[in-house]
Amino acid sequence: MTEPGVLLNPGPVTLTDGVRARLAGPDVCHREAEFAELCLEVKRRLEAVYAGAAGAFEALLVGGSGTCAVEAMLATLLPRDGKALVAANGVYGERMAAMIMAHGKACTLVRSDWLAGLDLDRAADCLRSDSDVSHVVCVQNETTTGRLNDVASLGRLCAEHEKPLLLDAVSGFGAEAIDFEAWNLAALAATASKCLHGAPGVSFVLLRRELLDPATGNAPSVYLDLCRYRGQTDSGFSPFTLATHVCFALREALVELAAEGGWQARRARYRELSGRIRRGLAELGVTALLEEADRSSSITSFDLPPGTRYARLHDGLRERGFVVYAGQGDLADRLFRIANMGAIADGDVDRLLAAFGELLRP
Ligand SMILES: *Cc1c(COP(=O)(O)O)cnc(C)c1O
Repeated sequence: MTEPGVLLNPGPVTLTDGVRARLAGPDVCHREAEFAELCLEVKRRLEAVYAGAAGAFEALLVGGSGTCAVEAMLATLLPRDGKALVAANGVYGERMAAMIMAHGKACTLVRSDWLAGLDLDRAADCLRSDSDVSHVVCVQNETTTGRLNDVASLGRLCAEHEKPLLLDAVSGFGAEAIDFEAWNLAALAATASKCLHGAPGVSFVLLRRELLDPATGNAPSVYLDLCRYRGQTDSGFSPFTLATHVCFALREALVELAAEGGWQARRARYRELSGRIRRGLAELGVTALLEEADRSSSITSFDLPPGTRYARLHDGLRERGFVVYAGQGDLADRLFRIANMGAIADGDVDRLLAAFGELLRP
């Protein structure tokens, strides 16, 4: 097997040695006090990542990837007789509409082209004209393109129309600004294994504390019904087996995040890394897809250079120790993506740019 090298895909990420060491930590029973204590600490730390969430929001851990938390949030918090307005401009937004429909709940998809921003005008029209809409749903960082969506504007509409916002923050939590109040946020879903630099296998929903009780009975699912996880609030125990080692690793990742200066410092670091990658690739004639103002901190899409096939680029970089990521769907022939989450050193970027140079210079 080729050495995996530095992961520049949007999760799972290259772990720090400290986080990786926790994966080989003790085997514990998920029904014993030491694991409950750990979970309570992880919950507290997740609730404290953003000052704006402190007090009002509670974190509930679920066993599964980011999609699991997103689906649990939608399953539990959208009422059976409610209606979601999903504003989507990529794979992950559209997937949420698919989940809602799979749950047998009503949904209006305000879809934009994947290369465009959220269609705020149509979303506003829909909120004005359709009084059945009960919730608004969107993605913060649409990983399909690396666009940091204008959630502030959508959130302002939500506040104006008094519609709670449910946010997929899977590739933003820990490294992008989140305004819990101004966006009228009811809940967000995120994962251990992206901007938090934990291992894959545990994800979480951060939701307003008062929402769980009235939500009883919304979920067309057992595993995804967050009401069943309510016991975590005080006891720390989950109804189903959590990935115990992954939870220990997540605690370490959260300790490291706090020690490094929290989400603001992580965002600054990501911007530094992505800026260097972007400038280095620009010198080789490879241009970023989006304008600076639209770009997320954690992942950047680049236009595939004319005449370069993605597979050749991927394999050449892989041989040189880097894993990059393809475009999705119709964008597969047009772009590739580089995420800068995880333990990435300055020297890794130097080597990455040198590898691109070898592959792209005639
Ligand atoms: C990665 C990602 C997901 C899905 O996460 P998994 O861990 O792969 O299930 C959902 N939404 C966004 C925006 C993502 O970037």
